[in-house]
Parts: sequence; C-alpha cells; structure tokens
Amino acid sequence: MVILMASDVRKADVARVLAALRDQGHDPRIISTAPSTVIGVVEEMDRARVEALKEIVSSMPGVEGIEPFGASWKLASRNFRGEATVIQVGRQTIGLGPPVVIAGPCAVESREGLIEIARAVKDAGASFLRGGAFKPRSSPYSFRGLAEEGLRHLAEASRLTGLPVVTEVLTPEAVPLVAEYADVLQIGTRNMQNFALLEAVGETDRPVLLKRGLMATVKELLLSAEYILAKGNPQVILCERGIRTFEPETRNTLDISAVPLLKQLSHLPVVVDPSHAVGKRELVPAVALAAVAAGADGLMIEVHSDPDRALSDGRQSMTLDAFARLMSAIHYVARAVNGYYTEER
Ligand code: PEP
Ligand code: MN
Repeated sequence: MVILMASDVRKADVARVLAALRDQGHDPRIISTAPSTVIGVVEEMDRARVEALKEIVSSMPGVEGIEPFGASWKLASRNFRGEATVIQVGRQTIGLGPPVVIAGPCAVESREGLIEIARAVKDAGASFLRGGAFKPRSSPYSFRGLAEEGLRHLAEASRLTGLPVVTEVLTPEAVPLVAEYADVLQIGTRNMQNFALLEAVGETDRPVLLKRGLMATVKELLLSAEYILAKGNPQVILCERGIRTFEPETRNTLDISAVPLLKQLSHLPVVVDPSHAVGKRELVPAVALAAVAAGADGLMIEVHSDPDRALSDGRQSMTLDAFARLMSAIHYVARAVNGYYTEER
C-alpha cells in the first residue's frame, strides 16, 4: 500500500507515520518526496491487514490518503491533483488557454534548412520548434540525425526566432547533453517504457513530452508518466501520436478518445501529434483540427520546406504554405471550443 502525505507535511509527521508502521512489523520506505511525500509498504498483505493499518495511520497528522499499490494509484491521477497541471516554458504556457502548436522538421538536417523552417513556422503562429537531433529509426541504415551538431542548430534557430525547442532524447546517458540545449525533452514512442530513461528525465528540471507507445494502453502511458513524476519532475506533457492497429492505409490510428479520456483520468496536459498518427501530409489537417475540437492542449506537427526531399518522414511533413493555412483553421476551431471543456471534468 502507499500512504500519501500532504504537500506541506512536516518531517516529524512523516517520521511518526514511519515509526507507527515499523511498530506494526512493517518495513516502510519513502518512495518519493516530490511533489508530495509518498510512503510505500511493499510487503504482501491481505485485506484485513490493509484495513487494520489504514485504521492506525489514516488519522495521523499529515496523512492525506492511503491506497493499495497498483495501477489504480498514480501521481498522474486527477484523484491526486484535481487542478490541471500548467507547464510554463519561457513565455509559452501548456495546459491553459489556447492550444500550443509545436512545429518543425522530423529531423534537423542542416543549419540553414532548420532556420528557414523555424522562421516560417514562427511567422505562421507556432509556439515551439521541434526537430530531432537523435533519431530513433526503424532501420539502422536510415538517417539517424546530426547528434550534437543538430542540437546546436536547434539552439541557434531558437535564439533567432524566440521559439523554445522540443527535441528527443534516446538514452539516459544523453540526457544531460540534450537538456543543455532543449527546453522540452521528448521521449519517443519506442522509448515510452524505457524506465531507466524515464527516471533520468525525471531527475531533470526540464518539462518532458512523453509520447504514447505504439502498442501502449492509456493506463500504460500514465504509468510511464508516473516514473517521471515519482522522480520529482512534475512537468510531464502526455502525447497521443497514434497506435498500431490492423489498418495499413494510415501509418497508425489516432486514438482521438484518448484525449478526453486522458484529461479525465489525469491532470497532465495532452498534446496530439497527427503527423505520426496518419503518415500522409494531406490527412494531417483534418486530424489536427479534430484533436483541437476534442480538447487537446496542443499539437505537434511535422513541417518541411521541401518535404519530398526530407531525410525522414517526408511523406507526412506539411509544406510551409499548407502549415500556415492549417494554423488559421486551428485558431478558429480553438475559438469555437474555448471554455467548453473547462468545467466538464
Ligand atoms: C518524432 O516525433 O520525431 C518521432 C520519432 O515520433 P514517435 O516517437 O511518435 O514515432
Ligand atoms: Mn518523424
């Protein structure tokens, strides 16, 4: 079972709860200290024993809640925190107000190319620049990114445009390097259950955009978010990017219902990536607008100045012009739903 302490708990209250549990013959452990202290008792216990411990601990000062271990309990859960988490990155806010748009190429290919795209998406109204410097590719022979050079280009494009940068980190070892350049660390779909990586980004002070795994359920996505939160990093953005189904005509299938479902189950902001969901640029606008209508807090969209020559994901990358057109439609849909969802959850 886990014992959730109040966020302003005093050390002495935590010590008293630990002592009471030890008196009962248990071996309690502090499993996290931020955003709140959480004490875990990991021994197998029957229901009667859980009830007996609840009786002893629940009225002690500083104790906010007691839950059985398991998938039903989460720092990511709305039950833990009713208020929506709002993430501030520079002047951008995710989780409050109109949806943010994160746009840019799949991969950073060159300094000039990136700067051209960054300027265009900024002019069109995007609020973040995306671009991979470390690319997880299905084939080891595909373009796998410019690594640190790509990070330097992202930082320069960010300086020139004022757009904060979202970029992927592939390994725990690379976290300090990527965090030096990135405003938001992206965990890709293939790494959603790379628990060592989740813990490594959980130890940084950078917001994390966590993409749903190809074959992951909504609960598994939330449990992966839990790994980051449990390490003390409260700034997690969930990202629905399509899951693998039997339909081969689109790259993946966007689970649109995951948007309201995640908002119901969790206080964390939800971003949708229509590009990886559909895999075809002509399908991206409709799905992007649907995501905004469904209440997404943001979109992540791949854009390229010459998509047919892109080194990765060209087929799904929008042209600069098409992206600019989509941005004005996003604005209208966002206005149409503005305020509709706020009191519904
Ligand atoms: C990406 O956003 O560049 C990416 C690789 O996405 P995903 O992890 O969702 O496939
Ligand atoms: Mn891509």
